Amino acid sequence: MLSLVIPIYNESLVLETLFERVRSASSDWGMDFEVIMVDDGSRDDSLTIMAELNRRDPRFKGVSLSRNFGHQVAVTAGLQHVNGRVVAIMDADLQDPPEILAKFIDKWREGFDVIYAVRTNRKENAFIKAAFWGFYRIMSWLSEMQIPLDAGDFCVMDRKVVDILNDMPERNRFVRGLRAWAGFRQTGLTYDRPERLAGDVSFSLHHRIKFAFDGIISFSYKPLRFFGIFGLIVSVAGFLGIALFVVSKIFSISITPYTYGQIPGFFPIISAIVFLGGVQLIGLGLFGEYIGRIYDEVKKRPQYIVGKTIGIGEEHSTTLPTPISERNKRD
Ligand code: UDP
Ligand code: MG
Repeated sequence: MLSLVIPIYNESLVLETLFERVRSASSDWGMDFEVIMVDDGSRDDSLTIMAELNRRDPRFKGVSLSRNFGHQVAVTAGLQHVNGRVVAIMDADLQDPPEILAKFIDKWREGFDVIYAVRTNRKENAFIKAAFWGFYRIMSWLSEMQIPLDAGDFCVMDRKVVDILNDMPERNRFVRGLRAWAGFRQTGLTYDRPERLAGDVSFSLHHRIKFAFDGIISFSYKPLRFFGIFGLIVSVAGFLGIALFVVSKIFSISITPYTYGQIPGFFPIISAIVFLGGVQLIGLGLFGEYIGRIYDEVKKRPQYIVGKTIGIGEEHSTTLPTPISERNKRD
């Protein structure tokens, strides 16, 4: 069976079409399917529509989170409720067309464990496009591990990979990175990403930046290391300056066209201090990003809370995911 995980936040305008498109595309998949719709605290009537879809076709099941936890957490919650041998993640807004899944499933049958979609074309404004383009390149340069370029969360995975993801207790999840981290046989298939069917994009610039930081910080220490290297270069330069000054004092050599006391130093000195002060503060801010995430991990709060399930059996009806402390006992 194929399990489709679909995060849903205020998607009442698209759910009906999604339902039809998934059902008609499913005839090409050559296997049974279930859909785990994860309502991420929607404020519109998405949840009511989900219940209605479940009534019409019980293969469409729902998990409703107690509030909005964010896309990555919604995907995580969905992955923890799947029953299939193969699992797909896709967006609700049909930017990830269900018709393409047939090709992904063929690849899975060939023996690939992860088949991720690579976007050849984004129908978004030039700024967002450029930002994404830059982000994926910076990410792959910084990361200690190879994360495929321009690959989003849209993918098909073998269950064994999903089990590995489900066993990872980390918060601030960057699912596409964790998926690459898991290894096994992975391959990318390209597709042209269409525009969202209806409704509005729910991510603000702030969310996108947080997401980019999660990606970079959870996969790389390099930003911290750069500050160390920069500090080393600056302190070597500073030390040379001092040495030069002392030598010129001792031997009364003039190293500038000015004599001592006449050096017009105010502007360069202030600029240097402000520059270095700024760099130090950026460094501190960056430390803060890492430390804040460490704090999140240490608190060990559940990653999400299930408020209600629709059409999901007793075995999944717990209101809380397995506490991390319980999970660790297994290791
Ligand atoms: N989504 C979610 N929680 C959120 C924001 C978005 O579950 O807090 C879902 C949304 O319903 C959609 C998917 O995540 O199915 C992608 O969101 P969107 O289309 O707004 O973003 P984009 O396609 O631009 O990445
Ligand atoms: Mg979208």
